[in-house]
Amino acid sequence: MQQYIDSYDFAGKKAIVRVDFNVPLNENFEITDDTRIRAAIPTLKKVLAGGGSLIIMSHLGRPKKVDAKFSLKHIVAHVSEKLGTPVQFAEDCQKAQAQAAALKPGEVLLLENLRYYAEEEGKPRGLAEDASDEEKKAAKAAVKASQKEFVKTLASYADCYINDAFGTAHRAHASTALIADYFPNDKMFGYLMEGEIKAIDNVLKNAQHPFTAIIGGSKVSSKLAVLENMLEKVDNLIIGGGMGYTFIKAQGGQIGLSLHEDELMPQALEILAKAKEKGVHIYLSTEAVCTQEFSNEAETKVFPASEIPADWEGVDAGPHSLGAWKKVIESSKTILWNGPVGVFEIPNFAKGTLRIAEDLAEATANGAYTLVGGGDSVAAVTKMGFADKVSYVSTGGGAMLEALEGKDLPGIAAIRA
Ligand code: AMP
Repeated sequence: MQQYIDSYDFAGKKAIVRVDFNVPLNENFEITDDTRIRAAIPTLKKVLAGGGSLIIMSHLGRPKKVDAKFSLKHIVAHVSEKLGTPVQFAEDCQKAQAQAAALKPGEVLLLENLRYYAEEEGKPRGLAEDASDEEKKAAKAAVKASQKEFVKTLASYADCYINDAFGTAHRAHASTALIADYFPNDKMFGYLMEGEIKAIDNVLKNAQHPFTAIIGGSKVSSKLAVLENMLEKVDNLIIGGGMGYTFIKAQGGQIGLSLHEDELMPQALEILAKAKEKGVHIYLSTEAVCTQEFSNEAETKVFPASEIPADWEGVDAGPHSLGAWKKVIESSKTILWNGPVGVFEIPNFAKGTLRIAEDLAEATANGAYTLVGGGDSVAAVTKMGFADKVSYVSTGGGAMLEALEGKDLPGIAAIRA
């Protein structure tokens, strides 16, 4: 039975909370961006304010064994500062029974990196490259078998389970999904997860029409499933960024040196045909800002997007495209944005992406629901200072992308089950 943390009585209870504290660290192990920590604080504070104690668990990076570089001890002080209370540390997530048992209401214990153990992901490690299929199968069966004990140990620390790690919700790992089985009546989403799920539902289930999706970024191959799922949902589909050139070339356009994937051209044509069948309006770039050099100092010229000279490359959306897209955005009640429409890392090629951010902010102010999610568009709106001017900015790149593909996320399904 799914519960909500707002209606759960945490008094005297120990809550084990899966968070996403996979924060970037510099060479001195200092946190360079604490967004993910800040995002989990409301849920953690809610448990403490309700008279509960906390056992916090997370992964950090991709260690293949115990490796001090990936230790969560580097972030203890920061979490403590943000929570406003001391945080104890368990140096082995599988040997924290005594520390967990001793927790009093209001106290906090952070477990060491879950991924020090292969059982967290349930994938075998250290297999020889030339391992036979039999050996691979046996290794997988072994880690799956020991995973049960791993999960059971984590579950034994607590009375209830909260998942607030949207960033790993697309993984069926021990701490993100399997552990939920041990808390049939005491499992719930944290506030961050709740916010992300509502945002997904607002676009995929309850979208107000006209609904427009703006899909940009580099490659069609990485967004094919998103595009296909969007065709089932939207009225308008704006396809920008590098991936747009595969569509333009597939229709016979001259795209010069612009990024494209020849092998994806049949799928691009199929998407265009399906859109026509479904009455979905597709908006490709009509004009491109082009360069001959990938640098901020390089000369730029605007060409029709299907007439780019052989030695020029499209790196940003041109004014005519942006003007046409703005009209579509203005007339929409729901807008989803995934992926920049240009090489936004280079300021001179970031103008189109900035314009989209501005258009979305304006649409939001005029009452549209706007979601920015999945991958680099989040970095773009945040960097450009528009994060609080849209309805919701997702915190989970891969998880949001899979949700937009229409997949059920294991971390969500385990709580709902
Ligand atoms: P994605 O991770 O698929 O959302 O792609 C984001 C990346 O796409 C960013 O690093 C952008 O620089 C890149 N990108 C967007 N437009 C273009 C373009 N026209 N040419 C090359 N790369 C692009």
